[in-house]
Amino acid sequence: MPINIEPLRKILELEHNKGYVDSAVIGGLDKFLRRWSSQAIESITNPQLLNHFHRLVNSSYASMTKQQRQEWVAAVLTFLVEAERREEEKTEVKLPPVASRLSSEARKQRMAVNQSIESPITVIKGVSSSLATKFNKLGVKTVRDLLYFFPRRHLDYSQTKSISQLSEREEQTIIANVWQAQVTMLGGRRGTEAIVGDETGNVRVVWFNQPYLAKKLPTNTRIVLSGRVSLFHGRHVFESPEWELVEDRELIHTGRLVPLYPLTQGLRPRQVRKLMKGVIDQWAGQLEDFLPPELKERCNLLELAQTITQAHYPDDEFVKDKARVRLAFDELLLLQLGVLSRKRDWQESRPGNPFDTKTVVLDTFLKSLPFELTTAQQKVLRELLADLQQPRPMSRLLQGEVGSGKTVVATAALLMAAANGYQGAFMAPTEILAEQHFTTISELLSRVSPQEDEGYLRSYPGLLSHPLTVALLIGDISQARKQELHQRISDGDIDIVIGTHALIQAEVEFHRLGLAVVDEQHRFGVTQRAALRQKSFNPHVLVMTATPIPRTLALTLYGDLDLSVIDQLPPGRQVVRTKWLKPAQRESAYAFIRRQVADGRQAFIICPLVEESEVIAAKAAVAEYERLSREVFPDLHLGLLHGRMSAVEKDKVMRLFRSGELGILVSTPVVEVGIDVPNATVMLVESADRFGLSQLHQFRGRVGRGQEQSYCMFLAENPSEVGRERLDIIERIQDGFQLAEEDLRLRGPGEFFGTRQSGLPDLRMAKLSDVPLLELARSEAIRLFQIDPGLEKPEHHLLTKELARVWQQGAAEWS
Ligand code: ADP
Ligand code: MG
Repeated sequence: MPINIEPLRKILELEHNKGYVDSAVIGGLDKFLRRWSSQAIESITNPQLLNHFHRLVNSSYASMTKQQRQEWVAAVLTFLVEAERREEEKTEVKLPPVASRLSSEARKQRMAVNQSIESPITVIKGVSSSLATKFNKLGVKTVRDLLYFFPRRHLDYSQTKSISQLSEREEQTIIANVWQAQVTMLGGRRGTEAIVGDETGNVRVVWFNQPYLAKKLPTNTRIVLSGRVSLFHGRHVFESPEWELVEDRELIHTGRLVPLYPLTQGLRPRQVRKLMKGVIDQWAGQLEDFLPPELKERCNLLELAQTITQAHYPDDEFVKDKARVRLAFDELLLLQLGVLSRKRDWQESRPGNPFDTKTVVLDTFLKSLPFELTTAQQKVLRELLADLQQPRPMSRLLQGEVGSGKTVVATAALLMAAANGYQGAFMAPTEILAEQHFTTISELLSRVSPQEDEGYLRSYPGLLSHPLTVALLIGDISQARKQELHQRISDGDIDIVIGTHALIQAEVEFHRLGLAVVDEQHRFGVTQRAALRQKSFNPHVLVMTATPIPRTLALTLYGDLDLSVIDQLPPGRQVVRTKWLKPAQRESAYAFIRRQVADGRQAFIICPLVEESEVIAAKAAVAEYERLSREVFPDLHLGLLHGRMSAVEKDKVMRLFRSGELGILVSTPVVEVGIDVPNATVMLVESADRFGLSQLHQFRGRVGRGQEQSYCMFLAENPSEVGRERLDIIERIQDGFQLAEEDLRLRGPGEFFGTRQSGLPDLRMAKLSDVPLLELARSEAIRLFQIDPGLEKPEHHLLTKELARVWQQGAAEWS
C-alpha cells in the first residue's frame, strides 16, 4: 500500500502560501500531522525513511518561529518527494542528513528553566537513583556527561532487504509481519521462535534464552529485525536478531546505525539505547555551542547539538564521521588553548632575564671541544641563544636521539648563564645520571680551564671574571656538606648546580637562577616545571629528551614549549645490530659476550623486570649477578648496579666499568637512560618483551657510542602478541622518531604517557595520529589568541567558560 502523501503536500503548500501562520488546516498543523502520520506510518517500509519521518513529525509546529516553520515545511516537502521516489523504486537510497535541530529547539523552549544540563542524571524522567549509581560507575554523573557518553561503536543495520534477498553472514535488516511467535525449546533451553513474512516470502527467527519475547510479538505485529542470518537445514534463520516494533517513534535498535554503549553490571543495551535517545532528543539542544560561528564555518564543522545527536544516532557514516571530527576538534582546540595560555602566562606575566650571548666565553668553549658541532647541534644552539637573549623566558623542548650530543649544547647554554652573572641548574631524573652529567661537564670544562677539584665541587679559574664553580648536589652526601652547598648556592657562590629533580625541592634557594636545564623530560611533569618557576626570577627553561616524541604528541602534551630537534648523530656512529633471541639462545648469547670481552670490549646485562618496587628489583638483580658470576662468567669481572645502592657504591661501580676494569655490568633497568661508556659494545636485555619501545631503544642507545661495531640482544620468554610486535619493530627500525610513531600507534592515544597523569584534559575522540586536525586546532587556537589575547570578547564568552570547565582539574595544579 503506497503512502498517500497528497493531502499533506497540499496542506504544506497552502501553509507556505499563507506565510506560515498555521492557518492551512483547522485545528492546527500539529493535530493534522498526528492523524496523518499514524496512517502513513503503516506504509513506510524503509527504516531510514521511517526514522527521518519520526524526527520530522515529532516537532511542534505551533511552537516554532516563522523561520523554523519555513525550514521545517521545506524539509517535510523534500522528505515526501524522497519517500515517493523510494516507494517507486523500492531500493536502498541514502537520504541527505537532516538536522534534528528544529525539534530540539522547540523542546528547549518548553523546558523547565531550573533543570540545567549540569544537573545530576536523576532529573531525567525514568532515571532512578539506583540506575544513576550504575551510570556513575561509568563516570556519568550529570546530564552533560550522558550527552558525552558516546557509544563504543555502531552496528550497521542500515541495509534493508526483502526476505527473498537475504543472504548469509552480513548484517541486514528486514521489515516484516509476525505470523506466529511462540515459546519453544532451543538447544535444551526455553527460547522464542517466530515466523515472519513480507511480500517476498517468510523466514524463521529464533531468540535463545528469551521466552518472554513470544508475548511481545502477537500475530500481525509489524516488526523490524536486524542481524545475521544463518543456514539451518538449508533454510535461512535469523539468530537472536535485534528487534523492534514499528511504532510511533524512531527506530533505535534496528534498521539504522545502531549505537553500542559501554555497559556495566545491570545495564542492558536496549535500555541504555532507549534512555540515550530520549536524553539526546530532549537535551542536546540545550548545549551551548561554544565555538564562534565563523570558526565553525571556516573549519567546516557541525553545530554542537547536531554533533551530539549524530555521534549517538547517526543518519549515516558520513555524518557520523563529521560528528567525530567536530568532537575531536573540540578536545584538541581546548587542549591547545590551555597549553598556549600557560605558555603566555609563563612568558608574559613576569619579565625574564635576557643574556648577552656574544661573549668570548662561548667561542673559547666551542674551540676547546675535541670535535666540531654537527650542523644540527649548531642550529639548535643558535635557537637556544636567540631565546636566551630575549627578555621573556625561554620555554623550549630539545629532542635528540640518544648520543646526538644534547649535553654539549646544554653546557654551552649553562655557561651563558654563568657568564651573565646568573646561576644555572641541570637536573637529571636519577642520581647516577646527575653524577654522569657532572663528570661529562667537568671533562668538557677542564679542557678550557684547569680544574680545582673538591669532590662534588669543582672550580675553573680563568674562563670568567670569577672562578666558575660547578657543584653536584645529590641525596646522599653528608648533611653538613649539603648544608654548606645550600648556603653557597643561596649566596650565589656557585654558578652551575647539577642534581636530580630534588634541586627544585623546598630547601634549595637559588641566589639568581637564570637557566634550568631538565634532562629526560618524560619523567619531569608539568607540575615540576611550574614548581621551578616559583623558585626564582622566571628562569629560562630548557627541557631535553632522548625519547623522541612524535610531533603531534609534542604539540599536544608540550604545546607550551617551543620545539628544537637534533636530528643528526655525530659522524662515525654505527648501526647497532639488533636481535630478538628465544630463550634457547641464551647460552650462545653468553658465549658471544664472552668473545667480545676477550676482545677487550664490555657488556651490559639488564636483569629481568620484576616489579616496580626498587627493593624487589634490587634483590632480583643481586641474585642474577650472583648466578652470572658463579655459573656463567666465573672467570670475568662483573659489576652490579641497582637503585638501592648508595651513591658512593654506584659511583664506584660506574667508575670501574668506565675505566674498563669490569667486563660486564649487571644492572636493573636504571641504566636505561643516558649512561655513556663508548667501549661497551653489547647490550643484553632480559624479559625484553615487557619494556616499551622507547625504553628498548634507550637500552640500545647505551652501546654503539664508540668506534666498534655494537650489538643489542633482546631475550623474551613468552611474549604476548603486542610484545612480539614491539620486538619485531625494534629489530627493524633504528630511527628513534620512527619508533616513537610506532609506539604511539601500538599504545594508542589514551595510554601514551597517560594524559590523565600529566594534568591535561582527557582526549577521548581525538586521535593523536590525526596530524591535520591537530594542526588545524593549533592554528585556530593561535588565531584566537591573536584576535582576542585574553579571550575576553563577548563572542568568546562561551569558549572561555568551556575552557575553564575542561581545565578545572589541571588548573588546581597550576595555580
Ligand atoms: P646525548 O645527551 O644527546 O645522549 P651526549 O651529549 O651525551 O648525547 O653525547 C654523546 C657522546 O657524543 C658524548 O661522548 C659526546 O662527547 C659526543 N659528541 C657530542 N657531540 C659530538 C660531535 N659533534 N661530534 C663528535 N662527538 C660528539
Ligand atoms: Mg644524555
